[in-house]
Amino acid sequence: MNSVPFDFAEENYPLAPLTVYRVGGPARLALIPRNRAEAIEAYAWMLDQDLPKLVLGGGSNVLIADDGFPGIALFTTKLAGLEHLDDDRYYVEGGGVLDRLLQEVIVANNYSGTGGLTGIPGSVGGAIYMNAGTVNGSICQLMESVDVLDAKGVTTVTMDASLYSYRGQTFCPHGAFILGGHFTFQRDEKDQKAIYDHYIQRRKEKQPKGNSCGSVFKNPDGDHAGRLIEGCGLKGTRRGGAVISELHANFILNEGTASSSDILALIDLVKTTVLDRYGVALHEEVKIIGS
Ligand SMILES: Cc1cc2nc3c(=O)[nH]c(=O)nc-3n(C[C@H](O)[C@H](O)[C@H](O)COP(=O)(O)OP(=O)(O)OC[C@H]3O[C@@H](n4cnc5c(N)ncnc54)[C@H](O)[C@@H]3O)c2cc1C
Repeated sequence: MNSVPFDFAEENYPLAPLTVYRVGGPARLALIPRNRAEAIEAYAWMLDQDLPKLVLGGGSNVLIADDGFPGIALFTTKLAGLEHLDDDRYYVEGGGVLDRLLQEVIVANNYSGTGGLTGIPGSVGGAIYMNAGTVNGSICQLMESVDVLDAKGVTTVTMDASLYSYRGQTFCPHGAFILGGHFTFQRDEKDQKAIYDHYIQRRKEKQPKGNSCGSVFKNPDGDHAGRLIEGCGLKGTRRGGAVISELHANFILNEGTASSSDILALIDLVKTTVLDRYGVALHEEVKIIGS
């Protein structure tokens, strides 16, 4: 690695505190740009280094390996601008907190989309990368375009339903960087604050509190991963400090002392058991980072 030309860089940077799971080792180098110009400069420099590369947002859907990430992690979290353009159009940078966009813009103006995004932690860019959402809709449905930075520079991709699917998209390959995007919202007749409060309450009742990544596995077509895991009798199964939630079988919790390996051991156990019992191959929604 060349010497680092930035004052927003930190070597051997602990990642666990920056993830909701609170597990895993440090990144060899972290870059934490404070604005879009620094982010573009940092990204270009990162691409020139002969090390693994990672773009990280709010850390709510990642599981970092116990020995960390042996490369460069570029954090988006200070890239958090939110600008009202005109009428119902906004430009939102990728590092902003998703719940801020939801509460300060969508709910505040009674725009449609609350049901799909309520209670999802993390950043706007992470949500776009994952096409985060629920059965009520997903973030990409609310977008007009997205700015993607890669080795060729910044491309503004016009959003189209063919570019995204359940918890995924094709406009931002792994390693590219979602700088931000244009949102166009529609006013709704239904009271969005009431919808927000309803889904926050539902999550309190149906999802376990604590350190997790939300749903570990994607739902297979026409079924629910949680139903299959529960059907295998795996609720409450433990490895070290990690446990498959009694409340929601698709959640694996770090009870405070879990290592990344404990959680990975449960992920492997679930995959093998569900395949044996139901013939269904589960695929992780959580992104596993490092060895
Ligand atoms: C309690 C809980 C409940 C959850 N409920 C839901 C839910 O209902 N629906 C749902 O969809 N998800 C849910 N999640 C998962 C998670 O919150 C979402 O996937 C979220 O959108 C991830 O955003 P993030 O900023 O935390 O991404 P990170 O965890 O930081 O990263 C996730 C992935 O996105 C990439 N990434 C992040 N930012 C960028 C960027 N700017 N450009 C390019 N790539 C980027 C990372 O490289 C990584 O591969 C839940 C998680 C928790 C902990």
